[in-house]
Amino acid sequence: MSASHPAPRASRVAGEAAQPRPSLVGLDVTGMRAAAATRGADGLAIAGLTPLSSCDWPGKLVATAFLQGCPWRCTYCHNSAILDPRTPGVVPWQDVRSLLAKRHGLLDGLVFSGGEPTRQPGLVEAAREVREAGFGVGLHTGGAYPSALARVLPHVDWVGLDVKAPARLYDAITRRGGAAPAFASLRLVLHAGVDVQVRTTVDPTVLDAAAVAELGAELAAIGVRDHVLQEVRRDGTTSEYRASLDALTTRT
Ligand code: SF4
Repeated sequence: MSASHPAPRASRVAGEAAQPRPSLVGLDVTGMRAAAATRGADGLAIAGLTPLSSCDWPGKLVATAFLQGCPWRCTYCHNSAILDPRTPGVVPWQDVRSLLAKRHGLLDGLVFSGGEPTRQPGLVEAAREVREAGFGVGLHTGGAYPSALARVLPHVDWVGLDVKAPARLYDAITRRGGAAPAFASLRLVLHAGVDVQVRTTVDPTVLDAAAVAELGAELAAIGVRDHVLQEVRRDGTTSEYRASLDALTTRT
């Protein structure tokens, strides 16, 4: 196990997503992670890079790197190609370095998005590198790995944290549980004093107005001051999910 992995099974936060089983379909995923860990930022599996975005970090002009792999399977996910942690990255970290080197004075920062970026061991070094290069560091996360989040937070200037639902409805959205680590991650970020925007994508097939209000009250009680509700996007979601959205509209 490499030093930058989340802590061994015993010390993970209750419900924190377990790392992929050692050999899925014959691939030694733990070995792949250990190898990636030794390569630091160059070991990042990057599924895509947006050279300019004005929406991924509100009020900032940024580039966004989409990191491969996610432990959850949200109903409304429109990024199925990015979920499998065994899929290799297609953008070398060196390309991100080169882009930033040409964008001094033009970009305010780089956002690490995903998938779930905190599952990648090289994130800490990559975040440190971006900040040392004179750019701000933004992070999009669902909070599935509080231990890994705690390690990268000292190198992050802004967090866009997805809180999907009230804890009792988390599994209905992620289909992998995750409420405990998500709320543990929220408390970590609030405690760290890092600038944070909490976003909730309102899945109408799971969340009604009462559930959204319940979540709002839960978040306010924890100390959240910036909570944004987002509508689900149909494009890129599964046909089953779109059918469930259509069924809703015919019912109402
Ligand atoms: S956490 Fe994000 S990337 Fe992962 S399944 Fe949910 S919506 Fe998709």
